[in-house]
Amino acid sequence: MKIVVCIKQVPDTEAEIKWDIPKGTLKRDSIDTIPNPFDEFAFEEALLTRENYDGDIVAISMGPEKANDVLRNALALTANEVYRLTDDAFAGSDTFGTASVLAAGIKKIGDVDLIFCGKQSTDGSTGVVGAEIASILGYSPLTYVSKIRQIDAANKKIVVERVIEGGTEVVEAKLPAVVSVIKGINEPRLPNLMGIRKAAKIEIPQWNADDLGIDKGKVGTAGSSTKVVEITVPPPRGAGEILKGEIEDVANIVTDKLIDMKVIK
Ligand SMILES: Cc1cc2nc3c(=O)[nH]c(=O)nc-3n(C[C@H](O)[C@H](O)[C@H](O)COP(=O)(O)OP(=O)(O)OC[C@H]3O[C@@H](n4cnc5c(N)ncnc54)[C@H](O)[C@@H]3O)c2cc1C
Repeated sequence: MKIVVCIKQVPDTEAEIKWDIPKGTLKRDSIDTIPNPFDEFAFEEALLTRENYDGDIVAISMGPEKANDVLRNALALTANEVYRLTDDAFAGSDTFGTASVLAAGIKKIGDVDLIFCGKQSTDGSTGVVGAEIASILGYSPLTYVSKIRQIDAANKKIVVERVIEGGTEVVEAKLPAVVSVIKGINEPRLPNLMGIRKAAKIEIPQWNADDLGIDKGKVGTAGSSTKVVEITVPPPRGAGEILKGEIEDVANIVTDKLIDMKVIK
């Protein structure tokens, strides 16, 4: 089986986020980055699938040079191949532009049976890229997957469990399929020292718009049908008020305040 995993670098959750307000984009250059946490579950599921059903894992990421870090991590975790999809023309792509580039990469890899994505990224957080890739390529979209029950590669079938409101749904679908996984589907392993050392020496191959046969007018800022028109940063929280005194007095003050604020009657 040929398995592709789409992985992305995101700002470190501990990092101070800076915005380019006029452009409506994150200032990504100066931010420390980490692998998108949901993609760690996606990659682990690819490893488990390879262990259970054989095959090769190809990891891809669309992004600037920093995206090499997440691909190197995939190599350290024994991905068979990795590719970074990068071109000045891709900058400013919205989700459909991103999905178009990733879909072109998947097409170029060829004969792919299964694509793993995270449920969402922790920066853009739209949660639509996996479904868009499936739509572009005409593959089965399997979202919110919490378990892979069975894969029948010979008959091109997959059975998965999906989390839905109040329960679980069991779905059978045709391969190729795009599976976006939820947190907790597995326990992602960490790369070992030998894997990290080996991966550090490998040059990450890149594919640009021409390599991927992408019409540059259909991606990037110019080709994106959605545009961020405004960004607002939440105001900093005001200082809290510390109440001191006997518990009963403090409770009365809090009650009065909550009544004044119309939180309680
Ligand atoms: C109008 C607009 C303009 C934007 N401009 C820029 C910009 O200038 N620069 C910029 O860096 N970003 C930009 N973005 C954000 C960028 O397009 C998103 O990161 C991208 O569309 C993915 O969306 P998401 O993060 O919400 O992914 P989600 O749909 O939440 O991600 C789901 C899964 O898709 C896969 N995935 C998503 N993105 C990638 C990727 N790049 N490579 C590999 N796998 C991926 C991962 O498996 C991920 O878990 C823009 C977004 C919008 C809407």
